[in-house]
Amino acid sequence: MLSSFQGKTIIVTGGSKGIGKGIARVFAKNGANVAVVARNLEAAEECASELNEENTNVMAFTGDVQDRESMKAVARQVFEKFGSVDVLCANAGIFPAANLEDMTNEDWDTVMNTNAKGTFHAVQACIPYLKQAEYGRIVITSSITGPVTGYPGWSHYAASKAAQLGFMRTAALELASHQITVNAVLPGNVLTEGLEGLGDDYLTEMASAIPMKKLGTVEDIGYAALFLASKEAGFITGQTIIVDGGQILPEN
Ligand code: NAP
Repeated sequence: MLSSFQGKTIIVTGGSKGIGKGIARVFAKNGANVAVVARNLEAAEECASELNEENTNVMAFTGDVQDRESMKAVARQVFEKFGSVDVLCANAGIFPAANLEDMTNEDWDTVMNTNAKGTFHAVQACIPYLKQAEYGRIVITSSITGPVTGYPGWSHYAASKAAQLGFMRTAALELASHQITVNAVLPGNVLTEGLEGLGDDYLTEMASAIPMKKLGTVEDIGYAALFLASKEAGFITGQTIIVDGGQILPEN
């Protein structure tokens, strides 16, 4: 059994919906204080009140990972509210499609500034507090797209998700002596609110490409993050866990 998360404080960027909300739910149900961070405060507050109906301690904060000062302010506010920042789940990300031939510099920059630079901003802002924690943990939500596979229409996204892993390995080295670990979860196709709108036929087709014949749940990613953030995972750093129902395994 993993040690309790009671009294530990977790920041989840992009925690108001999708995978981030799943991560928030899993940590909150395991006793942690959870700070959900998103640009839209109202959505973050709705998420917090929904999760708190399950007898948890979740609080909403507004922040934009593209903005370094905004992330510093969030980390400080969370520390002031809960007294520690023990775990950062750097999860916020966007995935607007753009074919390579039509892609503008703005398309590229928005995705990189959110997914890659945003990870840097969130991590850097939390370092002073993670150093004070009994054991600090950083879990990055990357993707199989980029680090392992390709997907037409998402070359900028794939580059940003691979960039997160290059960043992770050096961050892990720089922070190791402080007993702070830095790892990443690489989701495959996960059923989020955004995908639900695409309709049953589309979702069935997506699921058929996965050996387990189903999409992942947001909590599937949450449990992988929970393990990497646990006391028991303290000797694992700079590593990745793929959570994809076997999607990357077939040779053809
Ligand atoms: P989602 O449902 O669209 O949720 C994205 C979350 O990120 C929202 O809370 C959003 O809130 C927040 N966000 C977006 N831009 C932000 C910014 N600049 N600053 C702060 N928060 C921001 O996305 P998702 O599908 O759960 O994806 C979450 C992560 O998982 C991403 O990193 C994505 O690359 C990764 N992933 C997803 C899948 C999948 O199948 N869904 C697969 C592999 C990897 P606001 O808009 O209010 O800011």
